[in-house]
Parts: sequence; structure tokens; C-alpha cells
Amino acid sequence: PVRVRFCPSPTGNPHVGLVRTALFNWAYARHTGGSLVFRIEDTDAARDSEESYQQLLDSFHWLGFDWDEGPEVGGPHAPYRQSQRMDRYQDIAAKLLAGGYAYPCYCTTEELDERREAARKAGRPSGYDGTCRELTGEQKAAYEAEGRASIVRFRMPDEPITFTDLVRGELTFTPDNVPDYGIVRANGAPLYTLVNPVDDALMGITHVLRGEDLLSSTPRQIALYKALIDLGIASAIPAFGHLPYVMGEGNKKLSKRDPQASLNLYRERGFLPEGLLNYLSLLGWSFSPDEDIFTIPELIEKFDIADVNANPARFDLKKAEAINAEHIRRLDVKDFITACEPWLAAPFANWEPGDFDQAAWEAIAPHAQTRLTVLSDITANVDFLFLQEPVEDEPSWTKAMKGDPAALLTTARANLLAADWTGGPEPLKAAVLAAGEEHGLKLGKAQAPVRVAVTGRTVGLPLFESLEILGKDRTIARIDAALA
Ligand code: GLU
Repeated sequence: PVRVRFCPSPTGNPHVGLVRTALFNWAYARHTGGSLVFRIEDTDAARDSEESYQQLLDSFHWLGFDWDEGPEVGGPHAPYRQSQRMDRYQDIAAKLLAGGYAYPCYCTTEELDERREAARKAGRPSGYDGTCRELTGEQKAAYEAEGRASIVRFRMPDEPITFTDLVRGELTFTPDNVPDYGIVRANGAPLYTLVNPVDDALMGITHVLRGEDLLSSTPRQIALYKALIDLGIASAIPAFGHLPYVMGEGNKKLSKRDPQASLNLYRERGFLPEGLLNYLSLLGWSFSPDEDIFTIPELIEKFDIADVNANPARFDLKKAEAINAEHIRRLDVKDFITACEPWLAAPFANWEPGDFDQAAWEAIAPHAQTRLTVLSDITANVDFLFLQEPVEDEPSWTKAMKGDPAALLTTARANLLAADWTGGPEPLKAAVLAAGEEHGLKLGKAQAPVRVAVTGRTVGLPLFESLEILGKDRTIARIDAALA
């Protein structure tokens, strides 16, 4: 059975690249009926934080991911936080040393830098040159006596490493490209290069799906896996699939530090999790040539790693928003109403808690639902219903009140006062239309000052439905205030 993992390091805020990787692993596990292992790679005490760990959990819950093993749910390979698994890494590092798969390396950073520089100048490969590869017991003892510290370095095989990437096909790495590498620091701390494949082995991972930025570590991990198999610690090398880069602005790789890359941004703006995941799934994969909106169950049904494309994907915010808007439209209106609540509960200027009117909100909600791109826009679209006085948006006011709108507003007020307010939006529209005709204005031009007087804004939800929901008295009072 398929066993995949997502194994973020708890540093900083979650970003969209990480979410895309998690999504593909999750979708693949669910598609195949396999298991998803969630592991926390927190062996770098200097960079990892508890806050970031909590944020990861919170984000994954919000996105709707679930996992079969990992934090909160436990599992047969617990603990799932690498910081709690140090004894295992030490034990395996010792076995690798004893078996000659790894060796102590006494080179100092300065020596390494110097030799690397010299190699570069001479046009030779600049990776580790093997100085400590074959030290005798005597040489080691001499270094120790000198008080030199040693790291543990893994011995790469002298022949090329070939594997079939699930996305990229067959790849070969020659020894020149993959020199011996460090797996344990001088202070005894194990590195990512060791703990990541060791845990993949101990946890029986069958497929490693991760970003292309990690491709260069794959030949090293395959070599280490072979050693673990020799030692009876691993049973088989997993399949590897590297997901394409995501390009941001200016066709540069989207970086973690890019504000556009922050997951929190999408959450705060009111993306729906399913809208965001739908969009992120398209970064390197497609559902079908002519369909880009689908539900999560549909995605799970179709998702296959074999369909992931090796070409870099372009992050397109406009497209993400358009897809999110479509997911908003497809919500049950009840769910839309609930989903908007966080943005209506937020206290904002002039909004007294008592002003909120649930019936008015439920009446306006369907009109908002078809127009929102992100849920946070709801506030500006409906605040006119709940504020004592509409927002004073000076530029809108000036723009809509160009010329002298007083004459038009006076007629519109009279017509609205006389209109039938029980007959839906039509009579209200007729009232404003007639006012416009009287002043030689088309409906669009005539309704602009009415909208600004009543809502404080130049754009918004359909005006006559808005007036109807606001009610006759408040509508007239606002036009009066505008005329005063
Ligand atoms: N902890 C690693 C990271 O955050 C995981 C890489 C991998 O999937 O192997 O990049």
C-alpha cells in the first residue's frame, strides 16, 4: 500500500509551495487508499519554533487535510516530531560509521573553503575532495590528539546513481556531482541529510513527493537508503517524484519570503479552503484540458502523480481569485452566510454591535454571494446596512456628485417617497429612472448619486435591492443627509 508523507520544518509562516506539496501527497494518499504520514522536521533548534508548529497544525486543519499518522493522531511510528527521535538517529549514525558507510571527517571549515576555492580555480569539481575518506587509525588518533572536532560524512559510491523520477523520468547523477556529504555535525546534531531518509525508511514511506528544490538531495538519499538496506534498517528504496517549481512575479521562483506566497494572506482575505486548494492543485497538475473548477472529492478521484507536469508552473493571483469566486458562488447560501461571519463580526468604525440586523444580512447575502471574489470583501459591500451613517468615502462622493446632483437627488427623493416599497426593487428602480429622465440623465448616471448618498460608495451590490433591504425610512433619511 502507498505510504506518503508530508514533513515540513516548523520555520516561519506556512507558504503556498508547502501547501501544494502537502496537497499532492494528501490527494495521492486519498486517491490510492494509502496512508499519509505527517512528520515534523524540527531538528534545527536555531530555526524551528513552537509557534510555527502550531501554525502548521492550524493551517492544515483549516485546509481540511487529515493524516493517518502524526501529531494529534499518533501511530505505530510515534513520535512524529524529529526532535523527539534523536536516539534513533544517533544509533543509526553509529551503525553507518561502524559499517564503513560513513566516516569521521576532521577537515575544518577553513580548510574546506580553501580547497574548494582552489578546485574552482583549477576547474575541478568543488565538492568534498575525499581527504578524510581513508584515514588510518593512527591518523584519526593524531587529529583527535590535536583536539580537532569531527563531523560524520557519508561515503558516496564511486559509480553513477540512476533513478526514475515519477515526474521527470530517468535521471542520472555522476559521482562528480554528488560528493560525500555531512550527516552529523561536530556537536553531534544530526542533519536533514540523515534524519529525513532515515525516518522515511523507518516509517515505511513508499513515495516521496516533494518540490524540485530537493532534487539534488535524492541521489544522496538513495545511496544512504542502500546502506540502510544493507544494515537491515530499510527494506526498499521509495519512488521519488519532484513537483515543478512555482514561478511568481517577473518569472522568478516564488520564494517563501514573497508576500504573495504566505498562506495566511489567503486566509485573511477570505479564500475558501476548497477554492485555494483547487487553484494550487493546478500548479503542475490538471484536472482535464477544459475544466479548472472542481471539488476536493473530484480532485481526489482524479489525482495521479503520473499526470504531474515537469514544467515550471506560474502563480497567477487573478486566476486564483476567479476560481475562488466560483467556489463562493457554488456554496449553499446558508454556508455562504456562515462563511462570511468572521468578517461581519469584526468591529469596525461606527458599527455598534446592536446595529447588526440578521434579517437584513440574510436578505442581502444572496446578492453578495454572486459578486464576491474573496469573503473579506463582504464588509465593504454590506456595511451600509449596519452603520448609522454610511462611510464617508470622499473620492466616491466627489466622483458621483459631479456637477450638481442636488436637483436629481431632490426629485429622486420625492419619487422614492411616493413609490410602492412593498413591490420589490422594480418600483424603486422606476422612481430613480423617472428622476433621471426629468434631468436628462440615463439610469446609470442617475443612480450614482443615490448610491453614494445611501451606501457611501460608488460601487456595490445591486442598488434597488439594497434600498429595499435598507428600507424606506433609512433610505430617505440618507438622501436628506446628503442634501443637507
Ligand atoms: N523538512 C523538509 C522541508 O521542509 C522536507 C523535505 C522533503 O520533503 O524531503 O523542506
